[in-house]
Amino acid sequence: MYPDLEGKTVIVTGAATGIGQAIALRFGQEKANVVINYHSNHDGVEETIQKIKEAGGQAIDLQGDMSKEEDVEKVIQAAHDHFGSMDIMINNAGMENEVPSHELTLDDWNKVINVNLTGAFLGSREAIKYMLKHNIKGSVINMSSVHEIIPWPHFVHYTASKGGVKMMTQTLAMEYAPNGIRVNSIGPGAINTPINAEKFSDPKEKEKVEKLIPMGYIGKPEEIAAVAAWLASSEASYVTGITIFADGGMTKYPSFQGGNG
Ligand code: NAD
Repeated sequence: MYPDLEGKTVIVTGAATGIGQAIALRFGQEKANVVINYHSNHDGVEETIQKIKEAGGQAIDLQGDMSKEEDVEKVIQAAHDHFGSMDIMINNAGMENEVPSHELTLDDWNKVINVNLTGAFLGSREAIKYMLKHNIKGSVINMSSVHEIIPWPHFVHYTASKGGVKMMTQTLAMEYAPNGIRVNSIGPGAINTPINAEKFSDPKEKEKVEKLIPMGYIGKPEEIAAVAAWLASSEASYVTGITIFADGGMTKYPSFQGGNG
């Protein structure tokens, strides 16, 4: 637990499910004020709010499409109106779909880029604008992926978006370091969430993925939430412009395991 997170206000985008939901809950356990943004699916949000309150935190929810400028502005405003501040922005909302690249429509390309990259940019920009205005030495965390460095056939829009998030994070970190605003990314490996529930429900597909992970298992959303809490805390006060891969070793060329190669 990180005592300095108590009373801080954190926005988590796309937090109705999966990693975002686990992050919202973790910050609630840290007794933070949590703004839960959700897009279309509200299932589970009430339960998360209840659990956050039981843990000693506070929470509100706000519908919004994080690829739309006006909705991102509304989420920041809601944090300010309700909790009087905004200290930590977690751009977690994301999506993917599998299509061979030569068949990928412009519409699908735009959808994924708009949510994963433009959404993270809008969230970062508005958060930084707010922090500068209110002289807050805050923290921005972007949910990237191991696919900011690992190519992934059939997911060219996804890999392009996460590669973009990597350079956006580094550039913003450098630009706002003099203001004490830290900008970092988290690069999860394979995590058990609705984004890949269908794939992992097939034991053969699950096994194929597990073989890509030196630690041998698919991660839990809580294991990503723990990284977010540390990154946002003052324990990470000198850390900016990096991606922390929480991936069970997936980025370490697992095919060389056992001395292969
Ligand atoms: P998820 O599908 O449970 O969560 C994604 C959330 O984003 C959903 O709640 C969805 O409603 C929301 N969302 C989608 N479009 C949105 C929009 N326009 N505005 C607001 N919210 C929107 O999956 P997850 O695994 O929890 O994914 C969270 C993040 O983690 C994503 O950025 C994803 O790319 C990243 N990630 C996941 C994995 C994994 O294996 N699960 C691995 C690497 C990175």
